[in-house]
Amino acid sequence: DDAPSCRLVDLSAGDAARCLRKTDGHKYDHGHVLVLSGGVGRGGAARMAARGALRIGAGLVTLACPPAALIENAAQLDAIMLRAVKDEGALTDLLGDPRLDTLCLGPGLGLTAREAGLLRAALRVGRGTVLDGDALTLLARDDDLFSLLHECCVLTPHAGEFARLFPDLADRLAKDSAFSKLDAARQAALRAGCTVLVKGPDTVIAGPDGQAALAPASYGRAVPWLATAGAGDVLSGFIAGLLARGFDPMRAAETGAWLHVECARQLGAGMIAQDLPDALPRVFARLG
Ligand code: AMP
Ligand code: MG
Repeated sequence: DDAPSCRLVDLSAGDAARCLRKTDGHKYDHGHVLVLSGGVGRGGAARMAARGALRIGAGLVTLACPPAALIENAAQLDAIMLRAVKDEGALTDLLGDPRLDTLCLGPGLGLTAREAGLLRAALRVGRGTVLDGDALTLLARDDDLFSLLHECCVLTPHAGEFARLFPDLADRLAKDSAFSKLDAARQAALRAGCTVLVKGPDTVIAGPDGQAALAPASYGRAVPWLATAGAGDVLSGFIAGLLARGFDPMRAAETGAWLHVECARQLGAGMIAQDLPDALPRVFARLG
């Protein structure tokens, strides 16, 4: 088999220390994640992503929402900062601040022209960017948006989102038993020009340079209770937080996926998605 090699992600065997911070440093040294939220009544997914980014060690996290959703979000956030962002122009202005070094877009975002504009503005600044949920659907609908993807992006589709983005690859996956999910992820990463993490019980990760990895639930340590509403939103926040901390996109995706499964394992059956970030201190304590 001349396919490029694939690694198994296992932090416990390797660079666990990278997950723990240096003892010196200011919060501004640990990155600032901006999570874009949907409108009134739709902010829960973005808040879970934001909490994931904060718990995994981003120094600062800001949630940006439409002005009408400010009060609702303010009632639910504490250490996470809040900004109103009306439209693409307002986001471009906000991103004039280079300290907002990482973006997380998609969970509960919405699918109107406003959100397509926000996505365009976000991709144009070329920063570390996690794209999930509605952002993936918007990318699948618009080739011009898709063409703005760059090497600092991480796409985190589940099977349905993957099929919307890469229908031919999904079709081949269904029909050709010699074509694996990892093969599909590799081709998707080449096409997108960025890291692609395809979720599921057998999560796989591929980089645009041919690197590939399998996440822990993929090698026989199943955590079926992780398949619950909002789990993917937390994962996107984990990856964004790691990007903010300076992990490269492939390492951020691998490490985020590993920690996500470890949190689920730590919590056990009965967990819900909002528990996942709060399990990180116990997972980190075992690494240290
Ligand atoms: P989403 O579909 O966006 O909510 O993401 C679901 C999350 O749950 C992803 O992190 C998947 O990898 C994970 N997941 C889905 N199904 C399973 C399963 N059967 N066992 C373990 N993890 C799963
Ligand atoms: Mg999702």
